[in-house]
Amino acid sequence: MSTLNSAQEAVDTVANQAIYAALQQTFAVGGAIINNASGEVIAALHNNVLMPFPGGGTTYFLPHDPTAHGERQLVDWYFENAQPLNLPPPNQLTVVTTLDPCAMCAGSLLTAGFNVAVSAIDDYAGINYNSQFTFPSLPPQVRQQAQNTWGYYAIAAPVSRAWQGSNSPVFAGQTIDSAAYFLTSSIFSASVNTVREASNNSGLPPDQLQNPANLPANSKVRQALTALSPFALTVQSANPRDPGAELAPPLLKTAQQSPVFNSVALIDPFGNLLVCLGGAENQSPIRTAFMETTRNYAVMRWTLMNDPDPAVRAEAGQYLTHPKYGTFVFLYAPDPTTPQAVMTFGAYGSTMEGAVPQSYPSNLQYVLLPGNTTAQALSELAQNLPPFYTQSVQVAPAQVLSQDLINAVKNGV
Ligand SMILES: [Zn+2]
Repeated sequence: MSTLNSAQEAVDTVANQAIYAALQQTFAVGGAIINNASGEVIAALHNNVLMPFPGGGTTYFLPHDPTAHGERQLVDWYFENAQPLNLPPPNQLTVVTTLDPCAMCAGSLLTAGFNVAVSAIDDYAGINYNSQFTFPSLPPQVRQQAQNTWGYYAIAAPVSRAWQGSNSPVFAGQTIDSAAYFLTSSIFSASVNTVREASNNSGLPPDQLQNPANLPANSKVRQALTALSPFALTVQSANPRDPGAELAPPLLKTAQQSPVFNSVALIDPFGNLLVCLGGAENQSPIRTAFMETTRNYAVMRWTLMNDPDPAVRAEAGQYLTHPKYGTFVFLYAPDPTTPQAVMTFGAYGSTMEGAVPQSYPSNLQYVLLPGNTTAQALSELAQNLPPFYTQSVQVAPAQVLSQDLINAVKNGV
């Protein structure tokens, strides 16, 4: 990998990644991990939310992994490779990115403890959406961490933006030219609406879907669901937005087998449990139960929708819902004082990528709150998120309605 000598070179490097993303027709954002001491580029990646199937077909199902933003992937890449590559700790590295991180990526980067340096601002979904470096969406302690470790490169005339941030990121205080800034900003703007629409509109509405509980044992869709989660299609709730005690055993048994005692279920519009997964925090601290659930469901759906067999593609399209028509149920809600909570609500927003059909109760539910927190604190975190999450997605966490489910879980915890 190359060694860089300036903020200009760093932004040029990540801008190239954003160009690769634009050519792939996904969100045009790129990032890199750079060693503060040496300027070495340790890893460079771009967004992979939409992805064509490698080596196959003429028509693709593109929505691949709603969490595959450049920064989130870089954080997981780091924890996969830190030991084998003997990498320095995150506080000696900087994630340089073309675009201000979204809530999911900001939460991921702050959980991991990287320094961050940014070119363009995203005034809709970016964590610094007000350009003030005040981070109103972050919990107070986390806000301080961001102010201590992040920065926004200065931009030369004619844009003329002053450096904003701490001395911690690589090339802190340096200036990039207006051309690099405009490339990183406009390439994202050109991509964002089409990618959001492709993500938000991928799948049949519930009245056209068929019930996967009726799939035969030899169905590839059923087999893929069961391979992902042994509880898939074993539980059905009468009302998909009001799961009862039947959901307690999958949530509890999954949590018991996970490194952190938690799990998240996805229920489809027929009330079927589609997937219930725990986290993989022993591999990466950002691989929480929600991240694993939404990501693995999406990748499974993408894989089936691009299957070489057209009958499998058709079956997947007829039976597998977009998560916006489903219900996510957390065993434990995230702790609203942590960056993981910002990441979690951000990842929920990225999973929806737009309006969610409004219904009562919300399709973002939890059975229990972690100790020392309140439903109000959790709601406040959601209400303070950048405009995309409050105005478009309308993130609204709510406790499950069923006291039977709450009691069944409490008895098993
Ligand atoms: Zn992001």
